[in-house]
Amino acid sequence: MIKRRKTIAVRAGAVKIGSSSPIVVQSMTKVPTVDIARCVRQVNHLVCAGCRLVRIAVPTRADTAAFAKIVQKVTVPLIADVHFSPNRAIEAIEAGAAKIRLNPGNIKDTKSIHRIIDAAKMHKTAIRIGVNEASIRNLKTQDVPAKKRTALMLKEMKKYVALFEKRSFTQLVLSAKSSDCQRTIEINRLIAQTFDYPIHLGLTHAGLPEDAQISSAITLGALLAEGIGDTIRVSAAADPLVETQIAKQILIALGMYGPAEPHIELIVCPSCARAQVDIARLARRVKKNLPDINKPLRIAVMGCIVNGPGEAADADLAICAAKKKAYVYRKGRRITIVSESRIIPELLKQLKNL
Ligand code: SF4
Repeated sequence: MIKRRKTIAVRAGAVKIGSSSPIVVQSMTKVPTVDIARCVRQVNHLVCAGCRLVRIAVPTRADTAAFAKIVQKVTVPLIADVHFSPNRAIEAIEAGAAKIRLNPGNIKDTKSIHRIIDAAKMHKTAIRIGVNEASIRNLKTQDVPAKKRTALMLKEMKKYVALFEKRSFTQLVLSAKSSDCQRTIEINRLIAQTFDYPIHLGLTHAGLPEDAQISSAITLGALLAEGIGDTIRVSAAADPLVETQIAKQILIALGMYGPAEPHIELIVCPSCARAQVDIARLARRVKKNLPDINKPLRIAVMGCIVNGPGEAADADLAICAAKKKAYVYRKGRRITIVSESRIIPELLKQLKNL
């Protein structure tokens, strides 16, 4: 059992981040914010996929105006992603953002930050301080060696957090991202040691999904396994639904996905010379045919009796394939033997019973 780091609790609308709350999956919309209908559609898809927070970029005044309308049309708390403009931050807060993200690399003057804090206090809006290595490097520090860049990110975070604390604002979530796995792990460990605020984990600019899922799983997985991280976002050059699926998979693999959140953990054996059916094909068919479920389930698809009954013991449902047939297990107990063509219908029938 992974012991989570203790943090203060931060509220983003109805969603609690940190403390004993389940780790929150979030993602970002990737359609123009001013295209309200498409944006709302994408937010709703993300919610169905398991996002409990959705972030939307608001680079212009027209975007914050659209953001105000989007807030009214969705059920999930929205985060406004703000860079460069204190006015955008205040407009987003007034528009109903549950949380805003500020980048210390590009909103720096104390007066503006005080204006934002005052608006956030008035509207009960949380703020994420999102330090980004690329933004730090824009501060003409390109020649700073990698190790010192981590220290620089921490220094920037400390300076920024102090501004908020001096004005008695503590509804903060902290994040520090890099495209480098080791540096992201290092900086987040330092942040976890230094502050009591919840941490948003992410590896930035992680690349195409096939690359992003590996680097994100390594980086976020390492930190989560140490108990660090209260909300996660996987960045990938892909549909945000893909980001959400990767984020969910990371949490499921660590046994940290919200215990009450419906999800299916699919255990599939890798197959070997003993298998008498095409296991990958069978597992894909099982996955494709799974219905929507309302509770967490573990399903095992195994190729033979070497490990089949063992995995079945820990699964809600298991299939142990043999030549042209399969043994079906429920909660570790063998309940029937079916022909190959009956595997999927039988599985669906048993799922209904569960
Ligand atoms: S369960 Fe059987 S078929 Fe699958 S990998 Fe193990 S030994 Fe091979």
